[in-house]
Amino acid sequence: MENLIALVNRLQRACTALGDHGDESALPTLWDALPSIAVVGGQSSGKSSVLESIVGKDFLPRGSGIVTRRPLVLQLHRIDEGREYAEFGHLPRKRFTDFAAVRKEISEETDRETGRSKAISTVPIYLSIHSPNVVNLTLIDLPGLTKVAVDGQPESIVQDIDNMVRSYIEKPNSIILAISPANQDLATSDAIKISREVDPKGERTFGVLTKIDLMDKGTDAVDILEGRAYKLQFPWIGVVNRSQQDINKNVDMIAARRREREYFAQTPEYKHLAHRMGSEHLGKVLSKHLETVIKSRIPGLQSLINKTIIELESELSRLGKPIATDAGGKLYMIMEICRVFDGIFKEHLDGSRPGGDKIYNVFDNQLPAALKRLQFDKHLAMENVRKLITEADGYQPHLIAPEQGYRRLIETALITIKGPAEAAVDAVHGILKELINKSISETSELKQYPSLRVEVGNAAVESLDRMRDESKRATIQLVEMEYSYLTIDFFRKLPQDVEKGGNPTHSIFDRYNDSYLRRIGSTVLSYVNMVCGSLRNSIPKSIVYCQVREAKRSLLDHFFTELGKKEGRQLSTLLDEDPAIMQRRVSLAKRLELYRAAQSEIDSVAWSK
Ligand code: GDP
Ligand code: MG
Repeated sequence: MENLIALVNRLQRACTALGDHGDESALPTLWDALPSIAVVGGQSSGKSSVLESIVGKDFLPRGSGIVTRRPLVLQLHRIDEGREYAEFGHLPRKRFTDFAAVRKEISEETDRETGRSKAISTVPIYLSIHSPNVVNLTLIDLPGLTKVAVDGQPESIVQDIDNMVRSYIEKPNSIILAISPANQDLATSDAIKISREVDPKGERTFGVLTKIDLMDKGTDAVDILEGRAYKLQFPWIGVVNRSQQDINKNVDMIAARRREREYFAQTPEYKHLAHRMGSEHLGKVLSKHLETVIKSRIPGLQSLINKTIIELESELSRLGKPIATDAGGKLYMIMEICRVFDGIFKEHLDGSRPGGDKIYNVFDNQLPAALKRLQFDKHLAMENVRKLITEADGYQPHLIAPEQGYRRLIETALITIKGPAEAAVDAVHGILKELINKSISETSELKQYPSLRVEVGNAAVESLDRMRDESKRATIQLVEMEYSYLTIDFFRKLPQDVEKGGNPTHSIFDRYNDSYLRRIGSTVLSYVNMVCGSLRNSIPKSIVYCQVREAKRSLLDHFFTELGKKEGRQLSTLLDEDPAIMQRRVSLAKRLELYRAAQSEIDSVAWSK
């Protein structure tokens, strides 16, 4: 089960490295979800000593008075072999193998923050110890609770320490090591008092009794250790730490532990409790408890990690793919984005996205209405017919039939169809342009690259302009074709009386009378209407052929040809992403990597039991 705690320590360290403490970041934190052990108690009750003996190393400043003045977050990492060493959060990559130097660094780092005064600071010192002789734990050493300010300390110090200690032990995931010295009345224990306030049910409080060896002769701690004096959820654990004299004489940890074991085994009052007394036992109990707590947290942690991963992934996909570094990759990327855009544009035309129907509306409503407004009947009213025929005859009136006059009447009528034809071309052009703009804003890949967006838009509109010009030429040609050669059959099939106008027996003057002219007018009108009807059908065909079909086929062809001639540098300017977005993507990806690693680790722990 040590793997479990090792995993927790790894996660915790990884999160700390990323600055993921949760104070400011929007992401919920692993740090807050993981348990740690905080040591609380009055001044000189033996907190630092207990911590040291759990660690099995001399490295903490100890002594009388207020020695611990900043929280010390201590992570113990069990290593299988090799020399033990310590590392500080504020001195990364510097390995301490001399633990006297660690103690010195703690003192100096404390002073750096607080000055040499006896003031306290809430800024923690981070220390990790890697050793084959420890169990995996995270422990927090805290300044001792006091009742009065001494030696020029500010009056507020009593309350300041109280607040700081509370801030650590209030968190429901904090395990409290409540240290009470056996040579004082338990009723005055600061540790019991404060821990009962934050953990009334004693679900996360371990009572540790120190200085059992210093009790008055004739008294013993059996009542406390057996839970009769003050009942806690977990059994009390008694310890015997080194006295000040031992410290002064440099009694080492191994010797101290042996003496502690002997003390409990050989003191008659405690013999029966010896198996659950002492610093080593305390270390094991804590480690076991931590395991249980972590196991219960695994499902919560998993869902926290999964949720964060989903959030990171969705933000990353919103930001889009990172830009390729080589010219080939960039070219490919641009082509891919253009293809997406082109696909969306086609969908608009084909009806799976809206807008294409507007084109049909031009053919079905706008064009016919415009043709109707031409009013051929007015153009072919009698007076106009007379005028045109007379003009066409010139100095020599026609003899049999007004051939020139017919032609001129038809041509002047049909030529007016050019207007509605051009208007239809322009209307479809406008719709296609609108669909380009729509498709561009619907291509999420283009949002990332403002320059590419502009270039693609311009290229597409330029293509459309070319297609419009071609389409105008073609439709106007259709109209011109109609009046450059007339349908002979139409005139041959006319009833004979219409031809009367050409009867040579009529007097010259009859040929210009009203009924004669009216007949010509109505003949031409029905011919023009017939041609107009057929143009009404062929103009849309020409527009679709030249503009719509062509836009679907080759909208970006020209752009692609130009693109192929570009060098890597020019391609880069097309893919000029906002540097802030690039930065954000990199940091999100890093974070995602951490969370994925955490996810697979914690999943493997969750399944392997
Ligand atoms: P802290 O202020 O709570 O961190 O207490 P320290 O660990 O600095 O210990 C205060 C003093 O009490 C030191 O001189 C220790 O040597 C001494 N001390 C702590 N625990 C014991 C113990 O179990 N027995 C004896 N004899 N002395 C102890
Ligand atoms: Mg201390």
